[in-house]
Amino acid sequence: MANDGLERFEAALGAISKITSEDRELVGARCPKCGASDFAKISDLFAEAAGRLDEQPGSAGSVREGGMTDALIVEKFRPPERKSAAGLVLAVAVPLSAVCFYLYRRFGDLVGQSAIAAAAVVTVIVLLTTLRRRSDQYYERRRRWNSLFMCRRCGQLVAS
Ligand SMILES: [Zn+2]
Repeated sequence: MANDGLERFEAALGAISKITSEDRELVGARCPKCGASDFAKISDLFAEAAGRLDEQPGSAGSVREGGMTDALIVEKFRPPERKSAAGLVLAVAVPLSAVCFYLYRRFGDLVGQSAIAAAAVVTVIVLLTTLRRRSDQYYERRRRWNSLFMCRRCGQLVAS
């Protein structure tokens, strides 16, 4: 019984080191589809395919790991990108300035200026919360991308 507890403790430690380690490997894992145990990291596959395409664009159609071409690997395993928040800020700022303009014309300087100040505050809040949320989403997508592997034989994707 004591052994059982120790084993569980070690299993937990193993799970944690697996999660925290940056350079993950799939040790002893088997492909759920074909049973092979030879995996390639998605991020490595992408970097290698992108490098080959860069050096010899003519090789785009050659079939590589898992029956995929370099062009397909680059297309499918592209790392997640940060999205710009500019579009969203414009979508908030433009209607707000129209409202400010209307209030300014209708009620004069004081109301107009207060409205502009309020609109600026709202825009900044939207910008900050959006950046924060997108940053969290970006790191989450990045983490998932970093933990993906592909079976070299059949192309099955596996998450570590
Ligand atoms: Zn496989």
